[in-house]
Amino acid sequence: MKQHLSSAQQELYSEFLTFVHEHVEPSANRWDIDQGIPHETISLCAARGYLGGTVPTEFGGQGWDYVTYGLFNEAIGRGSISLSGMFNVHTMVTETLCKWGTDDQQKFWLPKLASGEQVAALALTEPGAGSDLQMMKTNYRREGDTFILNGVKKWITFGAAADVLLVFGKLDGEQPIACLVHKDTPGLTITHIPDMLGFKASYLAMLEFDNVQVPVENMIGRPGFAISYLAPYALEFGRISIAWASLGLLRACVETCGAHVMDRAAFGANLIDHGMISHMITDMGVDLEAATLLCLEACRAKNEHRADATEKIMIAKYFASRAGARHSANAVQIMGALGCNDNHSVSRYYRDSKTMEIVEGSNQIHQLLLGKSFAKKAKRAVRK
Ligand SMILES: Cc1cc2nc3c(=O)[nH]c(=O)nc-3n(C[C@H](O)[C@H](O)[C@H](O)COP(=O)(O)OP(=O)(O)OC[C@H]3O[C@@H](n4cnc5c(N)ncnc54)[C@H](O)[C@@H]3O)c2cc1C
Repeated sequence: MKQHLSSAQQELYSEFLTFVHEHVEPSANRWDIDQGIPHETISLCAARGYLGGTVPTEFGGQGWDYVTYGLFNEAIGRGSISLSGMFNVHTMVTETLCKWGTDDQQKFWLPKLASGEQVAALALTEPGAGSDLQMMKTNYRREGDTFILNGVKKWITFGAAADVLLVFGKLDGEQPIACLVHKDTPGLTITHIPDMLGFKASYLAMLEFDNVQVPVENMIGRPGFAISYLAPYALEFGRISIAWASLGLLRACVETCGAHVMDRAAFGANLIDHGMISHMITDMGVDLEAATLLCLEACRAKNEHRADATEKIMIAKYFASRAGARHSANAVQIMGALGCNDNHSVSRYYRDSKTMEIVEGSNQIHQLLLGKSFAKKAKRAVRK
């Protein structure tokens, strides 16, 4: 990967890897078993400036380009997908504010979020509305300078640990809007959802809004904008995060299994000398290389504001999350009984990787959108 990076990106990447090696990898299995990440780790991430990674420096952020943000997610995903979930949802909110927030909203919210004084989460999904966001029932009603918010959001990453939530709903059941809601607002009940398959330490939550009063000035963008503009924009950053974190998970599989098969012997030879095992390692390594290039290309397209960035990001998310799921299953197979124990990281990779195929647009939704796009392009090319 090094040859594709600037020297500044290389330097930051090695800082991220060292951080993960020292502060994430040793504890990640324990966080999963405990179903939570200690406050000290989140504070440490904040102190390093990592919660403000992509926020412009004028608001106290690091002003990273998107390749650097990808490298950060790769390093964190290598260590703990649960921790990567925090950066994923927090960045979806900061980027939405950077793009759609007014000057006053940016000045008010971004410094707090960039410093990590407050952590943000993003609430789209409802018990009756997942892939099809148009089915959202959460409702905002306006009374003077206040919205009255009612509804339920479910499966919200870091919902039980975040300070502020970007909550999507419809104004009078019609125009989609999104507002920032503080966790302590009266009428909001937050319930932790434990025992997930993956993202076990990501504080998933159900949010119930019962006549919650939200100042109108907390609305981001205009009424009617939220599902067509805000959500797709935010999801693009979610997909960048999932793609690169899946890449980190895949790298972890290759490293763990590669080292194991060189030393573990069976039937008079090391595992690597058995063709079926070697085949699995080969496919892992090749997909790791392919996913790396797709992730880099997606973030370069985003850095350069290219028209094809959205599609490149979807391709990277689709490929890397599927590769992560396939190869982490093989990683368990290669490790044998060791890989079946919760104290071994590959069992965590296996569980987390399945979840990566569902979040930020499931693989089926990616197939629908990418399949149509590829077919349309092919038809145009044939006509020429
Ligand atoms: C670990 C985790 C973290 C999450 N974090 C957040 C979060 O922070 N914020 C948030 O808002 N949500 C979050 N979610 C929710 C997530 O976004 C939804 O789970 C996802 O959008 C899918 O919605 P659903 O679960 O309701 O499944 P459904 O939409 O009911 O889909 C069920 C199945 O049907 C398939 N399907 C749906 N439509 C079609 C179609 N047209 N054609 C073919 N197949 C289709 C889907 O791919 C899926 O396999 C999280 C979920 C998980 C598991």
